[in-house]
Amino acid sequence: MRNSLVLMGLIASMLGKPVWADCASPDFVGWLADFKVEAAAAGIKAGVLDKTLAGLKPDPAVIQRDRSQQTFALDFLSFAGKKVNSHRMTQGKALLKKHAGLFKRIGQEYAVPAEVLAAFWGLETDFGAVTGDFSTLRSLLTLAHDCRRPELFRGELLSALNLVQKGDLTPARMRGAWAGEIGQLQLLASRYDQYAVDFDGDGQRDLIHSSADALASGARMLQESGWQAGEPWLLEVRVPADMDWSQARLDNKLPLSDWAAQGVKTAGGGDLNGSGSASLLLPMGRNGPAFLAFPNFEVFLKWNESTVYSATAAYFATRLAGAPAMRAGNAPVRSLSVAQTKQLQAKLQAQGFPISKVDGIIGEETRHAVRQAQQKFGLPADGYPDAVLLGKL
Ligand code: CA
Repeated sequence: MRNSLVLMGLIASMLGKPVWADCASPDFVGWLADFKVEAAAAGIKAGVLDKTLAGLKPDPAVIQRDRSQQTFALDFLSFAGKKVNSHRMTQGKALLKKHAGLFKRIGQEYAVPAEVLAAFWGLETDFGAVTGDFSTLRSLLTLAHDCRRPELFRGELLSALNLVQKGDLTPARMRGAWAGEIGQLQLLASRYDQYAVDFDGDGQRDLIHSSADALASGARMLQESGWQAGEPWLLEVRVPADMDWSQARLDNKLPLSDWAAQGVKTAGGGDLNGSGSASLLLPMGRNGPAFLAFPNFEVFLKWNESTVYSATAAYFATRLAGAPAMRAGNAPVRSLSVAQTKQLQAKLQAQGFPISKVDGIIGEETRHAVRQAQQKFGLPADGYPDAVLLGKL
């Protein structure tokens, strides 16, 4: 419902160009007839189609939500500060204790740490408290019929029908976020269908009402996304006042000894040690908080491609595992507004830097182009845009 992959993906693909202003949805009756043919060809039985789709109409409330989405405007410190609050920390720690037996069994089966699962559980639904009350089938039908992203949501609607056909959830019980995410970890229907497991042994894969099923399914998804058992995911560090900032890129993985040689220290100021490689992650540039992101961090990005969301989830998990609160960094960072970020992207694009979309989101593409521009203008090339660079452009 809040920050799931689909939302981020569609925000990323939509902003800057109001597609709905120049697209028209097809006639619903004809569309539904076509969709039923497609669903039947995909193996959905006539009885299931009748049971699920009879009388179902697009929901104007879903369209309204979809049309009024805002760009993801918070920077990392703001987002993490809001999401990883003391209430969630207390609740997360209490639930880790309360469900210790369950998390242990999940860990034995899927080798994913309890704290990582608890972090997603807390961020997605406040540990199962807020899973949404929209009819998933109606939401998906609405968005599949709507002209903005029909391909994505036709597939999700087919997956949701498949869940009904397999007996995982009845149409009446399949309720979730307005954009179709389901259950305590807010999975899309396709991921639900692919990864869900019946971990409490009652014969049903119920990711809405069973925390055991939801958490084990999340663990399975993380494991199959490449989680490396026993390995770290994120470590807060301290960076020197000056270094080669262009090294700080997620695709630049160096041995810890190389980072140590460049002056990177532990958050407490001690020497880095340990084997393995990591990237230097500076979510807000050289003056903000600094982390080493290990290969397991990429698994967070597979859950949600937003770096801000993934860094927040990974940080929350380290806190639940006992890490102290992060330092705010070396100096206050003034982030650009969404409007300024769009302005910057447009200028970068006009001056030939590699920007494919002007969307106000500081993703990997924008960071890469910013780094190039910073190098051209002789600025510290940390890939984080600021007013100085905007002025130069
Ligand atoms: Ca079950």
